[in-house]
Amino acid sequence: MITELQQTNTTCPYCGVGCGVTVQYQAGEISPTANLTTAQTGSVQPVAGMQAHPANFGRLCVKGSALHETIDHTDRLLYPTMNGKRTSWDKALSLVADKIQQVIHTHGPDAVAFYGSGQLLTEDYYVANKLMKGFIGSANMDTNSRLCMASAVASYKRSLGSDTVPGNYEDLEKTDLLIMVGSNAAWAHPILFQRIVAAKKANPAMKVVVIDPRRTATCDIADLHLAIRPGSDTFLFNALLTYMDQSNALDYSFIHNHTDGIAEALESASASSATFEELAQPLDVSSSDLNLFFEWFRDTPKTVTFYSQGVNQSSAGTDKANAIINLHLATGRIGKEGASPFSITGQPNAMGGREVGGLANQLAAHMDFSAAERDLVRRFWQAPTIAERPGHKAVDLFNAVKEGKIKFLWIMSTNPLVSMPDADDVKEAMKRCELVVVSDCMANTDTTAAAHVLLPAASWGEKNGTVTNSERRISRQRGFLPSPGEAMPDWWIISQVGRRLGHEEAFNYEHASDVFDEHARLSAFENNGKRDFDLSGLVGMSRSQYDALAPIQWPVNDQYPSGRARFFDDGHFYTATGKAKFINVEARLPEVHSQGDLVMNTGRIRDHWHTMTRTAKSARLGQHIAEPYADIHPDDANLRGIKHGDLVEIHNERGHIIVRAQVINDGRQRKGELFVPMHWTNRYASKARMGTLIAKTTDPISGQPELKFTQVNARPF
Ligand code: SF4
Repeated sequence: MITELQQTNTTCPYCGVGCGVTVQYQAGEISPTANLTTAQTGSVQPVAGMQAHPANFGRLCVKGSALHETIDHTDRLLYPTMNGKRTSWDKALSLVADKIQQVIHTHGPDAVAFYGSGQLLTEDYYVANKLMKGFIGSANMDTNSRLCMASAVASYKRSLGSDTVPGNYEDLEKTDLLIMVGSNAAWAHPILFQRIVAAKKANPAMKVVVIDPRRTATCDIADLHLAIRPGSDTFLFNALLTYMDQSNALDYSFIHNHTDGIAEALESASASSATFEELAQPLDVSSSDLNLFFEWFRDTPKTVTFYSQGVNQSSAGTDKANAIINLHLATGRIGKEGASPFSITGQPNAMGGREVGGLANQLAAHMDFSAAERDLVRRFWQAPTIAERPGHKAVDLFNAVKEGKIKFLWIMSTNPLVSMPDADDVKEAMKRCELVVVSDCMANTDTTAAAHVLLPAASWGEKNGTVTNSERRISRQRGFLPSPGEAMPDWWIISQVGRRLGHEEAFNYEHASDVFDEHARLSAFENNGKRDFDLSGLVGMSRSQYDALAPIQWPVNDQYPSGRARFFDDGHFYTATGKAKFINVEARLPEVHSQGDLVMNTGRIRDHWHTMTRTAKSARLGQHIAEPYADIHPDDANLRGIKHGDLVEIHNERGHIIVRAQVINDGRQRKGELFVPMHWTNRYASKARMGTLIAKTTDPISGQPELKFTQVNARPF
């Protein structure tokens, strides 16, 4: 019997653009059987872009438009298991709680750690962070967002006093000069890229400069591409700051009224600056191209610098981002229509994680571990044992596991045995834990294979909550499918452990909306305009108001009841002085941490997501690029006897991977460098896990790993 179609608006679970998705389905045809097949998911119609969503206005990229092809139950984790055997929720949750209690008793709270994910919804993240930092009493909760945008967070906090993205997507359309740094948005953030393409078409005077060692698909719209030497960004931006100063092109009124530290920053920048001819050497680009770029920047007040993982995933990521912010502060180009620095996150809810304190150096609601904020959060949570200091950041967290300092590890919705640097070492480290718990919707990942306890989590289409996209816009993710087997929402799973640890009242949530309300109340608690993140206008929503919540940019409060489009347009910053701080940036190239004569860069491809657990289900998404590969320059290939299409072994002292050589003859790939996509695991292609090769080198401030600069060798396989 054909039942009437129902419709749900939700959000895409992939990238940080955060597109709205409309799903139509025959509710009566869907049952939570353990083996919903691809054919049975036919009761869900092909998804469409949500017309009213301000991120995408009805558009979807190929990954988003294939969502309905990825919702079958193949390979889903359906039941709790302990040491590979099915068990009940009650037994599994009690075991987890008992073990946490025993480890705290024997080794102290810092022997417990959680590792989360930008795939978690804000409500899930909130509960996990509260349990760890407020009730277990350690801040050893970090997340795979450390691999994604921790450098952007650290740079905003250093300079602006808060983790605040100043602008919005509209600025990318309204600018006259868009500088895209370390971003292949055409593949990694396709809908935003489409918006930029349309804006440039409508305004042919708009210039786009792409700064990236590779000539990616994003360069198709570039008026100028600077294929700089990998990691040389700080030389470029320091030189540009010096040039602007020497050209008398700084905004002295803005600098005087709203910033501190320009003199020191200029001195620091000028130490590494040079003539265009001299700069051409560290940057490896022509002096005429540099000259042109600098002139465009000097002459274009409406400039947006848009940056992503090429900036963040670096041992100098925080400095790179601060060099960009310095330029925007020095020219007063911040928080104005079409003029701002703008970082974009990789994951769908990296921003939500930042808001609730998902990173080990944050507490909650954009607060950290200062005595005053720690006390405020403690009082709000009525927390018995709030963490005293920041916890281990991701790489250090797994190092602590290896050193035997962490005895209990709970990994939520992520696959660190693929994505972490030196992934084989992380695998070895986990063998030292007394108990590894993984909560995930998938049964067979590299990481689930290493767990003692598996807890089945609800997946996209089944769970309810909110996410925040890269322009601070909070959107509802709504469930429309029943979960298979015994899968449950993450917030529920974590709350149940909290209750079994004796904190009944604190984790007594019945619905995701209860969690959201508490999160909103914490953001408003003793805020009075002191903190950027304020959802006081969303406190006290009924469940139906929460269900109907339309996308809105935070803050939402008395002053901005409909959300705030831009920050810092009033010249107020969240530092102690109310002024933004220039940061002294010392230009440096990445250090060598591996053995090899080629530099390996890593990144996304257009049609796959993370470690492919979802996107590999769609045959359509496999058609664009079917197998792991390495882009290689023809001279490098010839020197090593590698031909296009050969299998090649990429190796260094940490291990090796085997991928298909793509000899790039059209200049897209720089000589001496390789590009390898990040997605393939050993599950989808034997020996293709690129994390095996990467050193554990991190940015000293943000702790973000260097994922774009690894020395490797290559030879025919
Ligand atoms: Fe999903 Fe990102 Fe594509 Fe939008 S651009 S549909 S959020 S993957």
